[in-house]
Amino acid sequence: MRVAIDHDGTFTTNPQVWTAIINMLCENGFDVICITSRFPNVPIVGMPVPVYYSCGQAKWEFATERGLEVNIWIDDIPFTIGGPPVNGEPPQAKIRRDLIRQVIDANFNSGPHVDYPRVGDYMESA
Ligand SMILES: [Mg+2]
Repeated sequence: MRVAIDHDGTFTTNPQVWTAIINMLCENGFDVICITSRFPNVPIVGMPVPVYYSCGQAKWEFATERGLEVNIWIDDIPFTIGGPPVNGEPPQAKIRRDLIRQVIDANFNSGPHVDYPRVGDYMESA
């Protein structure tokens, strides 16, 4: 069971409390990740789980395209998550997505994913 938590305006509201919640989730078998709308050139520091940068792409779409199944979302702006298209995807959406992917691929060699230490490692170093 995977939980995706947002950083800005969610985790940042109280990092200590959210870290405790993340820790509890991980101790009980949940896989917790962070999916942010940020670009990786504005990196997130101190997040106790792996961080994925969707670069403005709808988070559900970003995760789905990468085979990341997310079961539970925690986000202060649920609109940024998005979801499957209700009546099919308009062709403009695919064109836009492909253009964004080309820009990201051309500018971020390591891809949009940055691996941060797991909660236990983070807690020991904090
Ligand atoms: Mg947010």
